[in-house]
Amino acid sequence: MSISENNLKNKKAAFLSLGCKTNAYETEAIKQQFKMYGAEICEFTDYADIYVINTCTVTNIADKKSRQMLRRARSLNPQAVVLATGCYVQESADSLKEDGTVDLLIGNRLKSRIAEYVNDYLQNPAKEIFTAFNSDQSSYEEMSLLSEYRHTRADIKIQDGCNQFCSYCIIPYARGRISSRNKREVISEVSRLAERGYKEAVLTGIHLSSYGLDDASAQEQESLRLSSGRMPLIELLEELNSVEGLERIRLGSLEPRIITEDFVRKMSCLEKVCPHFHLSLQSGSDSVLKRMNRKYTTEEYLNACGILRKYYYRPSVTTDIIVGFPGETEIEFEETVSFAEKASFAAIHIFPYSRRFGTAADRMEMQLTASEKQERAKRLAETEKRLRNSYEVSFSGDIKPVLVEECRNTDGKSLCIGFTPEYVPVCFEGDSGLVNTIVDVKMSDMYVNEYISADFDWKI
Ligand code: SF4
Repeated sequence: MSISENNLKNKKAAFLSLGCKTNAYETEAIKQQFKMYGAEICEFTDYADIYVINTCTVTNIADKKSRQMLRRARSLNPQAVVLATGCYVQESADSLKEDGTVDLLIGNRLKSRIAEYVNDYLQNPAKEIFTAFNSDQSSYEEMSLLSEYRHTRADIKIQDGCNQFCSYCIIPYARGRISSRNKREVISEVSRLAERGYKEAVLTGIHLSSYGLDDASAQEQESLRLSSGRMPLIELLEELNSVEGLERIRLGSLEPRIITEDFVRKMSCLEKVCPHFHLSLQSGSDSVLKRMNRKYTTEEYLNACGILRKYYYRPSVTTDIIVGFPGETEIEFEETVSFAEKASFAAIHIFPYSRRFGTAADRMEMQLTASEKQERAKRLAETEKRLRNSYEVSFSGDIKPVLVEECRNTDGKSLCIGFTPEYVPVCFEGDSGLVNTIVDVKMSDMYVNEYISADFDWKI
């Protein structure tokens, strides 16, 4: 493509992010590229000149949703430029080319150039689909945010890719190998956001525990960390802890194996790191973990929970669990339920297993039926609800610092909604002047109530 004029100025551009927080971060960064060209950002459901869809391919259902949303964009304005990017594009470019819904297909690790591609495309709209894919899927692609859609808490991407190859996951193929963002870039983005008033940074990535361990295989990463004692994630946290204006640092999903005594001791000295740890479990049955190609045992996982509880006072340990994995027997499922009790999770994100074409798990025999999976998800959800309530109620009577995220008028009351450092949602009467401040709130039965508990998405 040739260098062109600014063809994006005053064009209406709509964005949709599917899938994970990392995609959401990248979509925000892409939006900012368009803003810099002078494009007007509108809702995805509006009549726009350009639609950008950051797709997901984690399951067959995610693929279907990605295709649906691309068709939706086309139907909202048949003359619009429709651009698809992200993991589904990376994995299924050929079928998307045949489908003919999109004008541009941009693979992963070229998202920092999306506005530039569209700008050039508008100069010379081609009859055929424009495609761009990066053959280098192992270098970190730098993108950054000036601001975020929320005004209190910003997701900061620090890592991309995964080398783990869990048997149900396509991500190592779609996102490529692990790569870490330069520490200086992370610090400067967080400092910039803190200057703009953001109080909390949530560190995200595809496999956060691999931060700073690029070029190492999954096994090497593990031995490197243990033998060298190097902890790049801790080194990053130590620097972030001194960023002026930043009050809280929250970690996204971690692998249990990163939780060693040394790691937690060092982390617990950093007062801004929230005592909220999301350790991906996936199954509480060792035989299922083996079939999933997860590289820890339930005993090791429980040991990690113990270390966290030794260094933090009532930390929130949350997790993801997949139910109905191929071949999961009733006994294996029961093992998971009782493990959840034993680990005393503060919250569990439950996923009925969803097949993804091209993965080892998809080829496994003894796939469970949808109703079996739903039934198990429902049973685990009952345990989850009880555990979550008991964790939240355990703070009753305590005074906790709450970062107020929003203020709503409900039933004639002005209600502030925010989170404790443990990510317990809190609701109390207060006015909008409290938004983006940290307020000490006495935790009572009212703190989690009908206003927020039903539809609340606690997942970081
Ligand atoms: S750790 Fe496993 S589940 Fe997570 S992205 Fe990597 S392969 Fe997928």
